[in-house]
Formats: sequence, structure tokens, C-alpha cells
Amino acid sequence: MKQVIVGGGESGVGAALLAKQKGYDVFLSDGSSLKENYRKELEDAAIPFEEEVHSMDKILTADEVVKSPGIPEHAAIMKAIRAKGIPVISEVEFAYRHKGDSQVVAITGSNGKTTTASLVYQLCKRGGLDVALAGNIGYSFARQVALDPKPLYVLEVSSFQLDDIQTFRPNIAILTNITEDHLDRYEYVFLNYIKSKFRITSNQRPEDYFIYCADDAVTENHINDFFIQSTQLPISMKREVPNGGFIKDGDMYVRTGNEVMSMSVFDFALKGKHNQYNTMAACVAAATLTIRKDKIRDAVQHFEQLEHRMEHVAMVRGIEFINDSKATNINSTWYALESMTRPTVLILGGVDKGNDYSLLVEGVKEKVKAIICLGVDTKKIHEAFAGVVPVLMDTQDAAEAVQLAFRLATKGDAVLLSPACASFDLFKNYEDRGQQFKNAVRDL
Ligand code: ADP
Repeated sequence: MKQVIVGGGESGVGAALLAKQKGYDVFLSDGSSLKENYRKELEDAAIPFEEEVHSMDKILTADEVVKSPGIPEHAAIMKAIRAKGIPVISEVEFAYRHKGDSQVVAITGSNGKTTTASLVYQLCKRGGLDVALAGNIGYSFARQVALDPKPLYVLEVSSFQLDDIQTFRPNIAILTNITEDHLDRYEYVFLNYIKSKFRITSNQRPEDYFIYCADDAVTENHINDFFIQSTQLPISMKREVPNGGFIKDGDMYVRTGNEVMSMSVFDFALKGKHNQYNTMAACVAAATLTIRKDKIRDAVQHFEQLEHRMEHVAMVRGIEFINDSKATNINSTWYALESMTRPTVLILGGVDKGNDYSLLVEGVKEKVKAIICLGVDTKKIHEAFAGVVPVLMDTQDAAEAVQLAFRLATKGDAVLLSPACASFDLFKNYEDRGQQFKNAVRDL
């Protein structure tokens, strides 16, 4: 069986290692250059590969192609593979086929995937389960299966990875929410993106669970368009759901069978409304895994902060600095503002994927005393917020943004980096942006 892997990042190399281990005739091809560590891994495992080129003669003789999530369908290489009729699967599908009888919890959605996945993982750990966290976080699923197989996998999966699944069937699927994102990969048709998110349920059976947010309008409006066989467990802050989870008067209630567990949201370690949704989804998942109530409570109270996601950096002269660099779309920043309790200097901007800033106007009016634009093109932000906030300034440097913010803020205020944009106009990635912000805060 000749397996060709397109893309040599974490997923592609993970898939190559797994394919080699399972005895496939494997070849990896990447149109760009590989990172040094990945190149070395392939060499050490004696896996043939090429970089900065796609040799059609080698690729088009494949029996099956494993596509990395970063490769778009409109890439010439994918068009050629499709035209030849070669079956294409995603790395998640490939890993799934080789996972044996292990269980899978899979988390997808536009926002909150990493947080929710890491919460589920921490709950499972606390519950004493032998579990791995993989997918878009840390190791790819394929690498995890190849190098360190476990009876339970908690996976963060993107819509791109769901696009080419065939048999992938999570025992528990979580869909956090759906907002417009990545439309460039879905022919600018929102419905295509929605379909791809719901694909997480497509192979589920009645004994499986589907956890979703009933307060999310897009999910709610489309859920009945799909044939979902698994047990549905909605979460809500707006209504009491008979099964699933809800928050009412400051208490969270979780019910997945006959038993109900409840807990005050004031005891949640992660703050903000968005994190209440994430925490609730994770607790519902944990309850279906029959983790004991006291363990769930204990884990929720001690969840670890994630870097770059509403991360408390420091208090400097009574001003709190918060790093939410991972907020790369409007919805994330909306939730970030929602959770602010102090007057805020907001650092906003970068590469915008078609943002509608008007959605932030109300929150800005209520809580923001100044906006500092950190980006190359700040025109849209100026148009949206001129007259809404008294101070609107531009910078193209993280340290300068922090110093400006520090000057504009007074004791009792907060400075929030929640850009609503991607970072690659000025930074390597969102981690680099967050790190530069934190370094600048520490230098104050
Ligand atoms: P993802 O992995 O889906 O990108 P993360 O968990 O990394 O999501 O969170 C990214 C950002 O999205 C956070 O910084 C936060 O501002 C926002 N966010 C997190 N959870 C939610 C949610 N449930 N709903 C809306 N926004 C959220």
C-alpha cells in the first residue's frame, strides 16, 4: 500500500511515523522547506521525503493520500490528486484507523477549542484516567498513536481536519460554537464551514454523546439539518436543559444520567463568561466518562491558566495587564471585553480576516477608555471607533503599545491585549505577539 503524505509539519510527520510503523510504503512531500527537527525525524526513521517541490510522478502513484490540515483544496497538488481520483484522508482519520479500541473525545468549534480540550484533559487526569491530549495541541493524533498510545485521547480538531474524515467517530464530540472564520477555505460560503464543523457527529452512534452550546445561534439554527444519532447534551446559560448542563443564578448544574451535580460558578478557576461555557462543556464530558463529582469539582477549582488566553500577566502600580493574544477574531475579543470588570485600555489590530468591528462598539463604549491599534493597517479600526472612544492611537511595536497603554491607564484600570486579528503583519505568530507583550510589561 503506497501512502503519500502531503505536508511535513506536525500532522504530516506524525502520519509518516505512524504509516512507517504500520508497514506502509510511505513518501512525504512538502512544497516548502521542512523544519530541522522534522527533517531529522524523517531521516532517522528512514522515511523517504522531498521538500520545496511536489514530484507529481511520485505523488500520483499513491494508493491513498494523507493531507495535512494546512493544505487548501485549491492548491495545485490537491487538484491533481483529486483529478486522478486518489482517495484523500486527513491525518486525524488516518490516526483514528490505527488507534485500536481506545476511546476518543474530540473538540471542535470556532473559539474555545484549546481551552475546552485542555480542561477535559485536566478533568480526566484528575479522575485518574490514562489519557493523552493531542491534535492541534502539542503532538498530532497520529504521532501520539505511533509513539505513545493511550486508552483515551482528548483531541482538538479543526474544521480542516474534519473535512477529510471517513470513519472518525468520537465517543464524545464537543462543538463549542460556530462563528465566521476561515471562510477563505470554504469558498466564502458560511454553510460549508458549518457543515464541516457538524461532520464531527457524522459517524457517531446512539451510545456516543454530542455536547454543544444551545445558546449559540448558528449551532441552534442548523442542528436539525444534520442526522445526529448520538445522545445530545446541550449546555446553556439561558434555559434549564433536562440533560447536559446549565447555569442558573450563579450555579452550574450538570446531568448526563440520573445524577445531578451542581457547583457555584464563583468557584471556577477560569474567569469570564466564555470560560464558563468551556468549563461547563468539559464538566458534561467528564460526567459521561463517569468521573466522580468530587473529582470534577476539585479539577474545576484548580484548572490551570492557559498562556495567551485571558492570561493575567502582572499588576503594575495598580494596573492589571492581561494577555489575550490568541483572540484572533471578533467573537473572542467580544468575550474578552465581556469579562472585563475594570476600565480598560484595549490593544487591538493586526491582520483582519474580514472583521465587523461594529459588534464590539457596545462593549467598547461601556468599558474601554482608549484603544491602541497594533498593526500595519489600522484604517478599519479608526473608522469603526472614531467618536466611540476618546483616545485612539497607532503603533507598530508591542513594547511601544505597552508603554502607551501604561501612560493612558490609571490605578484600578486594566490593559488588555485582545487584538481580534491575526498577528503576522508584525509578529511570527500569536505566541510571539503575546510573548513580546509580556516581556514589555515586565520591563515597565
Ligand atoms: P481555539 O483553540 O478555538 O482558537 P482558545 O481556547 O485558544 O480557542 O481561545 C482563543 C480565544 O477565544 C481566547 O483568547 C478567548 O478570548 C476566546 N474564547 C475562548 N473560549 C471561547 C468561547 N467558548 N466562546 C467565545 N470565545 C472564546
